[in-house]
Amino acid sequence: MNFELIIGHSEKILQLRQMLASNRFPQNILLTGIEGIGKTQIAKIIAESLLCKNPIEGNPCGNCESCRAFENDLTHPDFHLIEPDESKANAVIKIETIRSLQQLISRAPILSDRHVVLIERAETMNESAQNSLLKTLEEPVTQTNFILVSGVKSKLLQTIRSRCAPISFAPLNSDDIEKILEKIGWDRNESRKFSTLGDGSVGNAMQIKTMIEETNFDLRSDVIKFLNELIDRKDDLILFDRGKSMSENPSKSNFVLIWIFCLKMLLRDLLFLENSKPIYFADSEKDLRNLRMKIATDEIYILLKIAIETQRRIMSSNVNLRLALENFLIRAANFKNWRD
Ligand SMILES: [Zn+2]
Repeated sequence: MNFELIIGHSEKILQLRQMLASNRFPQNILLTGIEGIGKTQIAKIIAESLLCKNPIEGNPCGNCESCRAFENDLTHPDFHLIEPDESKANAVIKIETIRSLQQLISRAPILSDRHVVLIERAETMNESAQNSLLKTLEEPVTQTNFILVSGVKSKLLQTIRSRCAPISFAPLNSDDIEKILEKIGWDRNESRKFSTLGDGSVGNAMQIKTMIEETNFDLRSDVIKFLNELIDRKDDLILFDRGKSMSENPSKSNFVLIWIFCLKMLLRDLLFLENSKPIYFADSEKDLRNLRMKIATDEIYILLKIAIETQRRIMSSNVNLRLALENFLIRAANFKNWRD
């Protein structure tokens, strides 16, 4: 792998390559940004480049003994990947893992002139693991570079954060997501459709596609129906029943989440209806034109804001789904009052 293969993040990549090429790369760095935008892939290229014997303008050469070992399924003896056990519901990196790492990096490196440690989802280190790591970040026994990757940096101790050079990655734009999806083999139409649904993240786009495929339910006509109900509002009970049936749906949070995603896409399509063709609801243009006549632009923005906030609440852990949904419906039902 090398940096040329990365789509998006061009300014950050340039900055990283300059630091790598000048041999002034920070000993510890923390890569942050939402999930599913390529942080880990970039971290692995940084690691390969730091270990490479003949890096070229910050890129790993791909040919030396070190690069070959690295690219052979990450079997490089001086590269240490730490990640939480994803198979468990509560993914955590424990102090025992950090202690074994400390043993490994106390020995001299074998193939390269240093060790490189990559800690994936660093926020899953519990407090004792973080405290244990802190000592090594301050005083490593051997030449060691630490690359921490995190989507939720607020869960990292301030003392850890302050010892790492921060590099934050912005969400991807939908053109870049589209290119990445096409690159991994999606057809053009699907790449385009899901790139906007991904909301800045390739990971999201892929997850939503899977969720939609797994749901035998016409979500798109349902969100159009919902928006019509909301605007016409003859009866508040309709909304109440909807909240009840949605939170009782067996697939629960996934279902509610894609439903909200679909609603967001409907609102976006409505916003851009005048300037361009609908993207996600292309085959329902007539329904959309009818809806558009009944709702003002600022009302669409208000609903979009409520939908985005609800989506964030549901995606953050430990949220009570029923409460989040009720809150969404109450706020959505009053969207017309928000204007004043
Ligand atoms: Zn190399």
